[in-house]
Formats: sequence, structure tokens, C-alpha cells
Amino acid sequence: VDTFLERIKSYKHLNVFLDVYEEEARQKAKEISEKIKNGNAGRLAGMVIGLKDILAYKDHGLQCGSKILDGFQSQFTATAVQRLLNEDAIIIGRQNCDEFGMGSSNENSAFGPTLNFWNENKVPGGSSGASAVAVAAGLCHASIGSDTGGSVRQPSAFNGTVGLKPTYGRISRWGLAAYASSFDCIGPITSSVADAALLLEVMAGKDEYDSTASPIAPELYSDFTSNLEKKRIGYFKEALHSEGLDEGVKQATISKIEQLRSQGHEIVELDFPELKYLLPVYYTLTMAEASSNLNRYDGVRYGHRAKDAKNLEELYKKTRGEGFGKEVKRRILLGTFILSAEYYDAYYAKAQRVRTLIIQKTNDYFKEVDFILSPTTPSPAFDLGRKNVSATEAYLEDIYTVHANVCGIPAISIPNGKSPEGLPYGLQILAPSFAEKDLLNFAKHIE
Ligand code: GLN
Repeated sequence: VDTFLERIKSYKHLNVFLDVYEEEARQKAKEISEKIKNGNAGRLAGMVIGLKDILAYKDHGLQCGSKILDGFQSQFTATAVQRLLNEDAIIIGRQNCDEFGMGSSNENSAFGPTLNFWNENKVPGGSSGASAVAVAAGLCHASIGSDTGGSVRQPSAFNGTVGLKPTYGRISRWGLAAYASSFDCIGPITSSVADAALLLEVMAGKDEYDSTASPIAPELYSDFTSNLEKKRIGYFKEALHSEGLDEGVKQATISKIEQLRSQGHEIVELDFPELKYLLPVYYTLTMAEASSNLNRYDGVRYGHRAKDAKNLEELYKKTRGEGFGKEVKRRILLGTFILSAEYYDAYYAKAQRVRTLIIQKTNDYFKEVDFILSPTTPSPAFDLGRKNVSATEAYLEDIYTVHANVCGIPAISIPNGKSPEGLPYGLQILAPSFAEKDLLNFAKHIE
């Protein structure tokens, strides 16, 4: 704990932690050392973990990277976090993120951007950018982030860490501040597949506080003793030939595929003409869900309350006007439009139908292959403060990652080499629902 606390101080300029629980972590470390001596310590004894500022931890600040939650303290602890604590993990602090998880660069945080660990002029990715930087910079053993459309995997790709998005419902969402409820997943960011597996094992499982948490019993994900059989591995032709795919990322992905082929795995090229619908479906539905979820921030119940409002309506308007950042406002407005009576059928209902179609097609692919490989992102980490980039262009960043959330399937990003400038590349592996055991075993063998 002392070592991490010192490193956190020396990397302060990266803007990773919004709060560091210094005294508490030291105290906890002492208690756990005693438990270790007495032989009754939990499975995560001594593991030092950072939490994205989107997970509730009782009596600790929670702001979702937003001014609208100024001064807010959690009144309960997220189920996933409680399970870490029950196994004697040490929570070291709260990490910066894009406001309410909306973004791919951490630049949408009210607390300023976090910097990429490998190059401080580059973005760390988002929205769990700081959580990935924390692991890359050795500021904690692991971080817990959230992934609605890639927020655990994309920053992992940008910082050379491992990021796991489990099956929807594998980990309870109780205590995870909602962005888009039918997409949101909690996921670990770690320096190895083994750590990701162990953390999943501890956090997964049913929960009486979240009816969408699956009753299927979690498996022993951290047991890697089974051998790797020959697998059938697919890749989408469209993904490797998509416009805007960086040449280095492309070559790194192709050489990984060739390496797997030479190891005797069967490689299958798949056609996925629906690739181009992933982003429109994802953004239409998540904005709709966000506009509904975020209406709870009204200046009455949580955090910030505008001063001098003359009536209730003015209180809402002023509070939200002052409290929300530009991207969050954009999504609430678009989401409200999408859900409005006149446009509901044209946008929301249509996007739901396309979502179902994509889920069916994806399930069909998994009859032919065990996993689907792709780059995690179309390029390595991009420049901080990019000028003249429209919101629509920024959304292209998520082209490969949103697929898993649209379908609710598990996906992992593992490091896959670096660019000539030393920026990490990520490789994404998709698997069928609840195939985490198989997915992690495969990822461990090829990491
Ligand atoms: N970048 C995507 C978005 O802005 C994904 C974010 C996330 O997974 N929370 O919606």
C-alpha cells in the first residue's frame, strides 16, 4: 500500500485519482496482514484496487466524473465492490472517467482529462481511461471499470492492459451508476488475464438487488489447468478492411491470426455486412436509455443544486444547465428526441429490431466458430485535444467494441504489440454468452 501511495503521488500529473483513501488503505493493510498471519485471509488478501468514479462505495464520494454530483457520498456499496471487500481487497481510491461513462478519451470528465501512460500527449481512452492508466503505471494492482460500449476494453488497448467485459448480467449492476441499463457491465482492468479471471470469479453471481444479474452459477475462471484444445476462430472480413483502420493495428491483428493458424487452430473468414449498423444501433439505444436514466439528476435528490431558482422548473433547468457537460447534454437531448412520440417508431423501435437481428446473426456465427477476433480499436491512442473532430467521427472509435454490448456477449482486450512510436495495440476476442471460462482460458494461452 505504501509503495502504491508513493507512486500515486509521483504520477499525480497524469490526473488518475480523484480521491485517494490513504489512511483507510493503510489501516486495512494492517488488519489484513494480521489475518494472513492467522491464516484466515480472503482470496484477494492484499490486492490493491482502484474504482472508477461510477461505482458506489458507502461513505465515499461518487461523482461519475460530473459536476452535477458535487459533494455526493454513496449511501451503500455496490455488490461487486462488497464482494471484493469480503475477500480482503484494499480499495485505494476513486478514479477519473468520462462524465457518466460517455466518451472514449476521458476528455469529457468535469475534472480534466487523464493522460496516457505511454505518451502524455495522447488520450488514455475512455470512459474508464484513468482506471487503465492506473494499472499501466503501477498505481494499484487492478481497477474496476464499467463497459457500456467498450469503456473497459478500449482504454486497455490504449494502455497495454487487459480489459474484460463479461456477459450482460454476469456481474450485478447494483451500485453501478446507470448510463444505458441494457448495455452496462462492470469489468476488471488488470495486468494479466489471470487477475481478470480471479476478479470476475469474486464479483460474478446472482444478486437479490439486481433482477438482471444471472442466476447461472459462476465457474472457477481462475483455474487454468485445462489444456487449450484446437479452436475455430473467426474474423470479420469487413472489420479488417474497414475504412480508417490503422495499418499497424491491421498488421498486428493479421499476424496474430496467422500465428494461431500455424498453431493448428482453424481460422474462418466471416461475412458481417451488418457491421455498419452497429454504431447507429448502439448510439440510438444508449442515448434513449441515458435520457431516461439521467432524469434523476434534478437538483432535488442528488449532489448539485442551482442557487436562486424561482420555481421548480427553473431549478431543474439551472441545475442541469450548470451540472452537466456538453456531451451528456447532447445525449440527453438526442435521447429525448429518439423517445418522443412522433419519432419513437422511426428510431427507437427500429433500432431495437436491428439489435435483435444482430444478436441472431451473431449467435449463428457462434455455431461455426468458438471465438471472433478483431482489433480492439481502429487506431492506437490518439492526440489529446484533437481539433475539428465531430461527435460522429469520435463515435467511430467504438466500431469494434460496441458489438459485444449490443449482443450482451463477453469480450476481452489483451495487449498485442506496439506501434513504432511505442503505443500499445489491443486484440479483442468475442465469445458466446456465459463462455467466460473458455474465453479466459484461450486469452491466457495467447496473451
Ligand atoms: N465510448 C462509448 C460511449 O461513449 C462507450 C462508453 C462506455 O462503454 N461507457 O458511449
